[in-house]
Amino acid sequence: MGVEYTHFLFPEDRSFVPSADALSRLVEALVDAQFLPPPIEGKKRASSWWLSGRSYDGENWGDTYEYPLKRRSNRVPFLRYPPDPQWFSQFEYHDLRLSWSISSADRDALKLRHPLTPSYTKDDISYAHGDLTLAITQNFQKYGLDEILCTPEIHCSCGESLDLSVPRLLNYCQRLANECTCGKTFDPCAVIGTWVMAAGGWGNERIAIPGAGITKFALICEPGKIIPRIRPSFDRSFLAICSEALGQEVAQCGEIA
Ligand SMILES: [Zn+2]
Repeated sequence: MGVEYTHFLFPEDRSFVPSADALSRLVEALVDAQFLPPPIEGKKRASSWWLSGRSYDGENWGDTYEYPLKRRSNRVPFLRYPPDPQWFSQFEYHDLRLSWSISSADRDALKLRHPLTPSYTKDDISYAHGDLTLAITQNFQKYGLDEILCTPEIHCSCGESLDLSVPRLLNYCQRLANECTCGKTFDPCAVIGTWVMAAGGWGNERIAIPGAGITKFALICEPGKIIPRIRPSFDRSFLAICSEALGQEVAQCGEIA
């Protein structure tokens, strides 16, 4: 049994991909509400903004880019604050992964709020960490482990597998086609996942999750090595901010890996 907990926010409409305007609104609102640190330039701090992604022209995968690491290729100008929608628009048809690494020391110093509730207790001290990642992909990604989210193998109704054999570079998840070779559009919400967290020790409550962990957009919170004893949930105002900025109803679930 693993010890890393991960909590996901997905749009209820799993085909939804936010516009550059929506992404800009979302990041600005999360910084303003102190769920995210402002970008800090010229100082060595543990809390930092990280960017990685990959271009995609609809058929082929192109360049990778990373920030602030320069090892791969194509360093791109980094996001300023407040965020400019123009900056996000350059990633249309790209995979985008924007991560905020947030140390507990910086959380205290910057008076940042934890996106998950209940927040940490003395026993759950590593809950103090709350790295957040915003991930957008051009194909469907299947987040979460089968044994936690109980998602079946994903096939089209014609029987064809929807698995795309493309590199799992970005989010280390299985990729699924937007459309079957038979021409039928894949509807992830026809797949019902079950959020079972027996391994976490909070009973056998089962929650049905239409769409399971299959999505093109996710906000991912990683509080670190912990098995929560109470089922975690995103803070209500965090959920409200996300829903309003995206203009979408949102769903949440978690896994222990
Ligand atoms: Zn098919």
